[in-house]
Amino acid sequence: MTPAQTQLTETARRIAGPRAVTTDPADIEPWLTDWRGRFHGAAPAILSPDTTQATAEIVRAARDLGVALVPQGGNTSMVGGATPPGDGSALILSTRRLRAIRNIDADARQAVAEAGAILADVHAAASDAGMRFPLTLGARGSATIGGLVSTNAGGTQVLRFGTMRRLVTGVEAVLPDGSVHDGLSPLKKDNRGYDLTQLLIGAEGTLGIVTAAALSLVPAIATRAVAWAGVGSPSDALALLRRMQAATDTVESFEILPGSTLALAVAHVPGARAPLAGAHAWHVLIEMAGSDATARLDAMLETLLGDAMSDGLVADAAIAASEAQADAFWRLRDSLSAAERAGGPASQHDISVPVDAMPRFMIEAAAAIEAAFPGTHASGFGHLGDGNIHFHVRAPAGMSAERWYGDHAARATRMVHDLVVAMGGSISAEHGIGQMKVDELTRTASPARLAALRAIKTAFDPHGLFNPGKLVTLAPDRAST
Ligand code: FAD
Repeated sequence: MTPAQTQLTETARRIAGPRAVTTDPADIEPWLTDWRGRFHGAAPAILSPDTTQATAEIVRAARDLGVALVPQGGNTSMVGGATPPGDGSALILSTRRLRAIRNIDADARQAVAEAGAILADVHAAASDAGMRFPLTLGARGSATIGGLVSTNAGGTQVLRFGTMRRLVTGVEAVLPDGSVHDGLSPLKKDNRGYDLTQLLIGAEGTLGIVTAAALSLVPAIATRAVAWAGVGSPSDALALLRRMQAATDTVESFEILPGSTLALAVAHVPGARAPLAGAHAWHVLIEMAGSDATARLDAMLETLLGDAMSDGLVADAAIAASEAQADAFWRLRDSLSAAERAGGPASQHDISVPVDAMPRFMIEAAAAIEAAFPGTHASGFGHLGDGNIHFHVRAPAGMSAERWYGDHAARATRMVHDLVVAMGGSISAEHGIGQMKVDELTRTASPARLAALRAIKTAFDPHGLFNPGKLVTLAPDRAST
């Protein structure tokens, strides 16, 4: 530990008590590696204050001492966003003791939760009040509100309710100089210039630390209908989605996956079974949900799928006959990332293109990659209706992870990103940039975007002390010279 880091830990103990400082390497170790196991960092201490005020005082002390901080929530980042640098130059600033759900107001349809509150706990608290926080994802048992805000997380209900940007109505945050931005007031209108809440959403801990957020709630689900369908192609899947959206505004999830990804899940997830009897090139998982208990969504879904089968858009479909079956369909969907991880070394790309271009991207990009990298398997699964899929390039059978990542992965990723950019898309749809995509953002972003990102970072954090090495680097690059 450097003398400045030692001084900061002593100050943190004085401000927030002994529980706010962890220095035992065994207790720190689990927080030094990202969820995918791709990034390993070092940090001599974890600081975990339990109030906003204590967080602000610690951040001020860190600024004065020049100590870098890495905000960390549940550490489920898919891009190494919460993993500290490998040289031990930063301390982790964890929100694990900022876990309170301060308020649930069903009439105002709003909740205020502290940054370290776990998403599943927010779901449960909203449900106890007859409401729902309509954003969910596979990591809901670990991901925190602060992490979700800071990555502008999406998930499986974006189609209907949007990403965190739409669901967060205010943010409380400690900025890098130790000042507190109190933006939790539920204003419908606020025109005082730049929107700090929106700036902090998706900032990946580079502009300060979020300590609490105000969240929009919607009425609890009273009825839902869930189906699994086999389709011939992504364009058939999109045509089905368009039909359904024209018929009803209750479609809240529409997830696509290829048969090969389903096979991986069935092979690797204990107890998993394919929902349909036959083999299909592509599958979709559909959920319709509503707050009106009398609405017969299952009947509507059956009619829509029946018509689509008659018209040749759908080959086979199963409507969940019970909540347990619906949950089983979703468990299968939520296990896809883990199943893909078990399927061998692969490069994952969380990308988006305009929704209408996605079917073409899914077919053409996969073919182009497989042709350029013989033996690989390229395919995408995910949020078709958002124009966002997780596009994976799996190494040829038998190739070691070392060889794939060492010799091929970076080139494959560059090719995928070039194909995305050529279609007007984004190299990060919902996971953020973290440390994994910094170079690719620098390579592919326009000079205007890069210059603006750097100017904002410099204005908030001139000494680069918040989450160094993530999202945006301050060093000049080719684009700005
Ligand atoms: P962390 O991983 O701890 O941190 C993520 C980033 O936010 C880091 O840059 C960190 O520095 C910063 N950060 C964390 N807390 C704060 C704070 N209080 N203030 C400022 N910065 C902070 N994401 C999706 O969008 N959609 C999905 O469908 C999805 N599915 C997933 C499925 C699985 C199985 C897993 C493991 C992850 C998935 N993710 C998904 C990614 C991940 O869950 C989200 O990025 C989540 O928002 C991260 O929350 P966290 O608390 O774990 O944050």
